[in-house]
Amino acid sequence: MATLTDRLDFVIGRKSAAPLEEHFGIRTVNDLLRHYPRKYSDGMSVRGEGETLDLEEGEHVTFVDVITKAEPGQMRPQPGKRTRQYLRVTLGDRKPVITATFFNADWMIKQLPVGTRLMLSGEVKYFRNTLQLSHPAFLVLETSATRKIATKSLKTIADASGASGDALLAQFERQFFPIYPASAKVQSWDIYACVRQVLDVLDPVPETLPESFLRENDLLSEDAALRGIHLAETDVQRERARERLTFDEAVGLQWGLVARRYGELTEAGPPAPLREDGLVTGMRERLPFELTDGQREVLAVLSEELAGTRPMNRMLQGEVGSGKTVISVLAMLQMVDAGYQCAMLAPTEVLAAQHERSMRQILGPLAAAGELGGAESATRIALLTGSMTPQQKRQVRDEVATGQAGIVIGTHALLQDAVEFHNLGMVVVDEQHRFGVEQRDRLRAKARGGVTPHLLVMTATPIPRTVALTIYGDLETSTLRELPRGRQPITSNTIFVSQHPTWLDRAWARIVEEVREGRQAYVVASRIDESDKPQKEEQGPPPVTVLALYDRLRSGPLAGLRLGLMHGRLSGEEKDAVMSAFRAGEIDVLVCTTVIEVGVDVPNATVMVVMDADRFGISQLHQLRGRIGRGSHPSLCLLATRLPEGSKAGTRLKAVAGTLDGFALADLDLRERREGDVLGLHQSGTLGSLRFLSLSEHLEVILAARELCEGLYEKDPHNRGMALLAAQFVETDRVEYLEKA
Ligand code: ADP
Ligand code: MG
Repeated sequence: MATLTDRLDFVIGRKSAAPLEEHFGIRTVNDLLRHYPRKYSDGMSVRGEGETLDLEEGEHVTFVDVITKAEPGQMRPQPGKRTRQYLRVTLGDRKPVITATFFNADWMIKQLPVGTRLMLSGEVKYFRNTLQLSHPAFLVLETSATRKIATKSLKTIADASGASGDALLAQFERQFFPIYPASAKVQSWDIYACVRQVLDVLDPVPETLPESFLRENDLLSEDAALRGIHLAETDVQRERARERLTFDEAVGLQWGLVARRYGELTEAGPPAPLREDGLVTGMRERLPFELTDGQREVLAVLSEELAGTRPMNRMLQGEVGSGKTVISVLAMLQMVDAGYQCAMLAPTEVLAAQHERSMRQILGPLAAAGELGGAESATRIALLTGSMTPQQKRQVRDEVATGQAGIVIGTHALLQDAVEFHNLGMVVVDEQHRFGVEQRDRLRAKARGGVTPHLLVMTATPIPRTVALTIYGDLETSTLRELPRGRQPITSNTIFVSQHPTWLDRAWARIVEEVREGRQAYVVASRIDESDKPQKEEQGPPPVTVLALYDRLRSGPLAGLRLGLMHGRLSGEEKDAVMSAFRAGEIDVLVCTTVIEVGVDVPNATVMVVMDADRFGISQLHQLRGRIGRGSHPSLCLLATRLPEGSKAGTRLKAVAGTLDGFALADLDLRERREGDVLGLHQSGTLGSLRFLSLSEHLEVILAARELCEGLYEKDPHNRGMALLAAQFVETDRVEYLEKA
């Protein structure tokens, strides 16, 4: 009678369906059935809430329990009004004690005697070691009184569906309940009631996955899983349902990616066969070093793909300092030699400016077209950033639109509509994790009609395999594992400041020594000033600000050294000036925030002290550390924290100090963080809709799903079952919404 694609309001009535759409975006039967329970009540307690201490103030929770104490009391009298009563009930024998308080409760006192079993739901507050729900919504499940009572919303559902209220309530006469992600307006039991109604009339759900695949992976049918996840009464059955639905998520995600990849394969790329007499050759002759074997191999792959008629889609990952930039420049020059333009997107102004400077330097006369001394085949490099004056921007845009500039480097400013290319052939995205899929697509759309530019994304944050297969599943991957020869190792240590206060003094002394030897140093703070929002949730003492640190060091332990100050609130020009001075060795110690996190390259810097290092994530620390150890001198990285050695943060810092292996750290990072947080990609919206699939646990599932989708897509690209599974991962209006936000 009902199928997955039916509109929900046709099945359960508009009145019940409307709040589900409003609060959860649930529109179809499928949407509702995939609003999976968060946990299950089991007799008296809700599973997963054993550790009630973990609940956070303000969190919306649902309990199922029995009233063990009911204490009525008088509310404070209001002038001219009858005195009202309140009712405080205690639930079960939990530790900490949980109470619920109802105001103006005269009518409830008889309805909620000791022994009543009820489900109740509201926001948590802590008060004197008890956990309180203030005026929660509730639903009586079993009572010694004869009449059942329920909150208003359930009655509305009953009325709307034409069912009698009692018939609806009969559905609650069971020991086990699914507990749904809910809100104050749509309670868990409202959702449960709707799910029951839908499941009662749902036709057998057609199978989306091939029989053989189900057998191989020992999976329940879609029909059994979708019913079981809501109504199964044992843990074993629920687990079976969850296993199957985990595959649904993996398959849906992979189907979307495979479709995207195949779509791109059929598009036309800008073919650019390597020329022996152009800028590529010119630059290779000018390089002051030999390319490593790894660089050579990657370059050969890129060069071949650029020459092809299909757009390249490739990610290049390599440790900080592994020499990715050189590769990207040679690849871009191959495009320029063939008459195309290239755009390089960088996450910060500092990095964009640095790329432009080092490219200009390494290309010399090859980048000086139209200037005195410019080489014959020369091109021009343009830089476009948000902090340039309107006049500067206009001038750069002209150079880009007329095609004079062969390589354009920029920040987000490049994405603006006003930027038009003469003949865009390649997009390079540096430090990919700062940009979403939508942003690279927007830049790619600036090519001539019918042409999809080649794409190279580069990241120094090593990417765990599962992430590469999901978030970047539409890209091929190349990896640079070796660092250029002659690099010196970085020693890392953790300083637990509260246990060893003098160690920090030694750190400053070490900086003084290094500077005497002619080296330079970074000191990093997690925020600019008090008004600056902390990067992570507050824990422990407030972090030192970069401004306070700068003053303290200048007048204290680093007095006499030349200190520079750098943070995100300086203007583009000021940042440039500071960076140039540091690069030129006119500044000994750069006191800064994470503006220097990515890509900044000053080989003479050999010491880094990170203050309040616990405020930074694992990948971020690894990135920061990559700013040193880039030259021929040994380097030292000190991670200072005021949290104790035994704390979770302390353990994390020791792990970072213990290895330079970015892949090991990436895995650790993945295990620690919430999935949606991975590499900051929660913004892309895709991972937000994963309920069961875990990137840290389900590599096998992801691999199986990928294989299935690749095989099936070739034969049957319009498979309806697959499209249904993929729908939640390719929803476009979510992306647009995020871009507006
Ligand atoms: P990444 O972007 O991968 O972090 P860069 O491209 O910034 O690394 O390279 C780091 C430094 O190493 C730069 O100063 C670069 O000129 C230098 N470099 C790159 N390749 C080589 C090589 N093959 N031999 C020696 N130095 C190199
Ligand atoms: Mg780089």
